[in-house]
Amino acid sequence: MKTRNLVIVIMTVAALGTALVLKTVLAQTGDSNRATVDDLVAANRVLAHEIGVLDAYGHVSVRDPRNPNRYYLSRAISAGMVTAADIIEYDLDSQSIGNNRPDGYLERFIHGEIYKARPDVMAVIHAHSPEMIAFGASSVPLRNMIHTGSFINDGVPVFDVRKFGGTADDMLIRNLALGKALAQALGRKTAIIMFGHGVAITGPSLATAVSNAYFLNMNARVQEQAIRLGGTVSYLEREPGAEPPTNVAPAGAAANNRAWEYWKRQVTTK
Ligand SMILES: [Zn+2]
Repeated sequence: MKTRNLVIVIMTVAALGTALVLKTVLAQTGDSNRATVDDLVAANRVLAHEIGVLDAYGHVSVRDPRNPNRYYLSRAISAGMVTAADIIEYDLDSQSIGNNRPDGYLERFIHGEIYKARPDVMAVIHAHSPEMIAFGASSVPLRNMIHTGSFINDGVPVFDVRKFGGTADDMLIRNLALGKALAQALGRKTAIIMFGHGVAITGPSLATAVSNAYFLNMNARVQEQAIRLGGTVSYLEREPGAEPPTNVAPAGAAANNRAWEYWKRQVTTK
């Protein structure tokens, strides 16, 4: 009888210990998860309220740092209104995890297919920037004007979804096949203009994707202004043979983090 009681005590202690460890692991996982979601909420608001990249229609996502086969994206509401409760986790086929969510963005395939094709990409932004639509429509190519936009020297291709079944009345990336075609056209580049529609911008981190979006629009405006001034425009092209920066924004990670911390504070203290 005593032996039986001892076994029961040992089993109870073991079960409690296991439960405690499990609870700790879940708490830690939840915390890291929460930080990623909080940053995504901040990115939505920064892009909408601080730097004017996202209008009422655009969206931003981040890859799950714990699982490269998943990403986070808000339900289909305007970026400037997004809260943590709005964030949905998707697999790379852009199917919601756990339960079927009919309230996601129609164009979430932009995000899933770019993550699938580009393991180096940790964040994706889809915007309808007038600056990018203008360059997509013009025969004047977008060229690098400012050192913080030097990724433009790698090229910013223009994608026309009409070649893949889109029409002038519907240019949306509404399925896996169109998302895949866009990701293939993006290749190894940082950003791609979507003709008659907008742009998709990537980054090796959420902070860098936001900075890339900021500098891409700034570069376009500066180029347009320089052309309007008349005379000869000088572009900031790389020296022949110069290596492009790898996996960090040209302005440097420290500068990007400085801007990111500032922008984040602006939207979290309001
Ligand atoms: Zn769109």
